[in-house]
Amino acid sequence: MLMLGSALAVAAILAIVTSLLFRELGTANEAAVRSANNVVQLIDADVQRNAELYDTSLQGLMAAWRRPDVMTISPELRQLVLFDRATAAPYKGDLVLLDDTGRIVADSTSLTPRQDNFSDRPSFQKHRDDSSLALRVDGPFLSRWGFKDLCISFSRRLSSDNGAFVGVASASMRLSYFNQLFRTLDIGPTSTINLVNADGVLLARQPDDNNRTFIGQNFSMRPNFKRILREVNGSFAAASDLDGAQRVYTFSRVGDLPLIVVVAQSRDDVYAVWKRNALLVAGATGLLCAGILWLSWLLGRQLRLRQHAERELSGLAATDELTGLANRRRLDEVLKQEWARGIRSGRPLALLMVDVDHFKAFNDRHGHHGGDVALRSVAETLAASIRRPGDLAARYGGEEFTVVLPETDKAGACVIAEKLRLAIEALPQFADDTMPITVSIGVATHLPTTDDLPEPLFYAADRALYRAKKNGRNRVEVEPYVAPSPELQT
Ligand code: GH3
Ligand code: MG
Ligand code: MG
Repeated sequence: MLMLGSALAVAAILAIVTSLLFRELGTANEAAVRSANNVVQLIDADVQRNAELYDTSLQGLMAAWRRPDVMTISPELRQLVLFDRATAAPYKGDLVLLDDTGRIVADSTSLTPRQDNFSDRPSFQKHRDDSSLALRVDGPFLSRWGFKDLCISFSRRLSSDNGAFVGVASASMRLSYFNQLFRTLDIGPTSTINLVNADGVLLARQPDDNNRTFIGQNFSMRPNFKRILREVNGSFAAASDLDGAQRVYTFSRVGDLPLIVVVAQSRDDVYAVWKRNALLVAGATGLLCAGILWLSWLLGRQLRLRQHAERELSGLAATDELTGLANRRRLDEVLKQEWARGIRSGRPLALLMVDVDHFKAFNDRHGHHGGDVALRSVAETLAASIRRPGDLAARYGGEEFTVVLPETDKAGACVIAEKLRLAIEALPQFADDTMPITVSIGVATHLPTTDDLPEPLFYAADRALYRAKKNGRNRVEVEPYVAPSPELQT
């Protein structure tokens, strides 16, 4: 019961701790998504602000270029008019105006436009083939001039009043801007921040992809990016398309721009704190449970030992040391119980007083040790000769024994007494003794009533024993009359 109770308590503790840990896991997940969202929003705001600066520059360039008098002013003044608003943008590359053949006609980097043609650039080709006037973001590509760095371009189509393609205003921005921006954000050692354009091309990635393995690659066919490009804003957990590791993806479109910021947090980062706490809690709970079970086991063992000791003690208290039979105390207890049972059942109770004959002389012949051995074999014979569960053989004292026979009438008691007498007489002769060990037995029976006590039954059996001794020993005598208890008479 003790172990069962402890096991139930341990099971309850484990269930509570497990459910708490699962709840904490959910909370850790929510917190990770929330912090990723914050990062995404921060990047979103910064990139959008810069894109707006670039767009403002492009629109300023286009508006100035449309003025008919722009070609009439001096080249220095024209440069100021065309490009003045482009100066504030960080990490800016060049700002150029291309004509319908892709030739540079205005250049932020020099008064005389560079002799170059950008018609090979996808952004130019797309503007030429698509009449949309919206801002395009393209790249990444290696700039041919200046920093010779990886850049992306912001561009707008220049159309005539009737919508015909006239040229392209294009500004390039170095990708190191994003790396610089991402570097300021702490998202954990194994998580990444990515910027992809609407076509699924990876533009920037933090931690720095030094080998540039992934920059410029098109991920639009990868399952996770397919989902990101389709949903544009949101969050989900999945295995990485690149390394197969489990990641939580949180992503958002940058304003109206064709750019998407993706924060990919590794599960190790998301659950690092939870894992540490879970290990601590699990360890402490495990120790607690093991402690409870161990203490319960110890307590149970102590209780069992105590029970065993108590049983042994009560056994010792009820047993005669020399013969192993019940002692006087036990005899009195049993007699009381059987007396009460006799009252309930209405069946007589028989008592035999057994006394070893001439035992003093036996002791004289064989010494006290020999006497003790003989007493033990008499006791064994008595115990072996009574078979019914309620029967009891006890050592009354010295060389006298008492046998209690519940629910036994006079005739039955005499039969058993005679059987005992014969069995003892038949014991093998002790050493070289010519005299066998014999006993005299006094028998008394009585129907117990509530008006009576067991003592008179003793006296009656004793009287019968006395008669047996007087009539020659080694015999059974029966006392016909059990006098009423003297205590009850008074
Ligand atoms: P009777 O036939 O009249 O009963 O003669 P008896 O000698 O048996 O009777 P008595 O009462 O005179 O002597 C009993 C003897 O039993 C005295 C004592 O030395 C011996 N005795 C009593 N208890 C023990 C015991 O525990 N061990 C041994 N060895 N002897 C005992
Ligand atoms: Mg005696
Ligand atoms: Mg005797």
